[in-house]
Amino acid sequence: MSILIVDDSKVIQVLLGTTLKKAGYTDLLYASSAQETYEILGIIDNKPKPPQIDLILMDIVMPVIDGIEACRHIKDHANLKDIPIIMVTAKDESEVLQLAFAGGAVDYIVKPVKKQELLARVRSVLKLKHEMDSRKAREKELLEVTHQLEEANRTLQRYSYLDGLTEVSNRRYFDDTLEKEWKRAMRCQEAISLIMIDIDFFKLYNDYYGHQGGDDCLKMVAKTLADTIKRSVDFVARYGGEEFAAVLPNTDLPGATTVAQNMQDAIAKCNIKHENSKIGKLLTISMGVATLVPQKGSDCSRLIKLADDALYQAKDQGRDCIKVASKCT
Ligand code: GH3
Ligand code: MG
Ligand code: MG
Repeated sequence: MSILIVDDSKVIQVLLGTTLKKAGYTDLLYASSAQETYEILGIIDNKPKPPQIDLILMDIVMPVIDGIEACRHIKDHANLKDIPIIMVTAKDESEVLQLAFAGGAVDYIVKPVKKQELLARVRSVLKLKHEMDSRKAREKELLEVTHQLEEANRTLQRYSYLDGLTEVSNRRYFDDTLEKEWKRAMRCQEAISLIMIDIDFFKLYNDYYGHQGGDDCLKMVAKTLADTIKRSVDFVARYGGEEFAAVLPNTDLPGATTVAQNMQDAIAKCNIKHENSKIGKLLTISMGVATLVPQKGSDCSRLIKLADDALYQAKDQGRDCIKVASKCT
């Protein structure tokens, strides 16, 4: 425990120092003025690491800057305000003591200093300081653990929204986010679009290339679809099996159709071989596009139904094509 003794009288410094040393407080620092105190505490020259002080014994009557003013100035500094200050004074008039307490002092000792009184006060203030320090350390630790926990929760949340195989958003994320975007679109009376995407003859793909080959293909398709999306609010999710969905908030039907077209082109560019397909030698996708401006009281199931029906039409009309839901406009 480190104690700083501030007194313009060397005699008092020695007296206080000797008493404290005899009681086992060996880590003592001395200052003869407020100015010197500021230097030790690093207030003047902005020391990067001033010494760790646990208690200051501060004389009140000193030339230039008195102890009360010095106490006030120290307490103005966030990193020093918790150092307890005991005033040492020949004046025990209530007015002076009131000023000292208002300035932030915790206690006072009257000169001539009685050894027992000095030690009792120093001991109790240091005990309090020690308890405060441990509490602060515990709070800091708790805060760190809380931050770590929050970060872990965020990571967990991210993973709980990802599809394990394809690493695009999963069905849970799709359900939660479409619902939110639907409500937002309703509030703003904006259009929201949905593209349902299904791989053509994927069962035959699996039959030919095996389940592992099918998995690799799903990963490739998911990445290609996700890479087509440009706006940060848009997202692609794995809807189930070999079916994907793209949600495009604040996007009208022509805009959504363009995105679907881009997706079809991107898949074509991938040149994924599908020897078993009834369409050609390459893997293709079918898509259904729907757009709605949500009406009050409605829910997003209508948008899903429209896009699904359009996808069904695309399948029905030969696959490898985009169909737009007719009731959108
Ligand atoms: P359509 O053109 O009409 O969509 O025909 P399809 O064969 O793609 O459709 P169907 O629904 O008959 O078959 C889908 C196939 O997708 C069957 C299933 O085994 C496969 N599948 C679904 N999920 C996965 C998966 O995670 N990995 C693999 N490898 N295959 C999957
Ligand atoms: Mg399919
Ligand atoms: Mg399917």
